[in-house]
Amino acid sequence: CWTASRLARRGLQHHPRCLLCDQDPETIQHLLMACPFAKQTWHIILDWAHIPAQPPANETTMMDWWLRAKAQTPPTLRKALQSITLLVPWMIWKQRNECVFDNARPLIDALV
Ligand SMILES: [Zn+2]
Repeated sequence: CWTASRLARRGLQHHPRCLLCDQDPETIQHLLMACPFAKQTWHIILDWAHIPAQPPANETTMMDWWLRAKAQTPPTLRKALQSITLLVPWMIWKQRNECVFDNARPLIDALV
């Protein structure tokens, strides 16, 4: 994809290990859904918004999770769920980049 080739040209590689938990290889599925850091973030945000859906668990894609979460969420809260579904991955990605490029330490409180 465009981003991958651009990063490769700049000599920036995919990080071999997730910098948010330091436990598993960094894949997009791990980073946004399976990582303990991500799971905790999802849990806090969904709880805060009173959305009864369970955080991502064993889903392979965000779409799989979103379809399940939508079914678990009353219609009046679905717009909030949609926003959260976009914003949480965005904020996790930003936090990941701060760790990769600015040597920041991952902080769930700061992200939330
Ligand atoms: Zn991780």
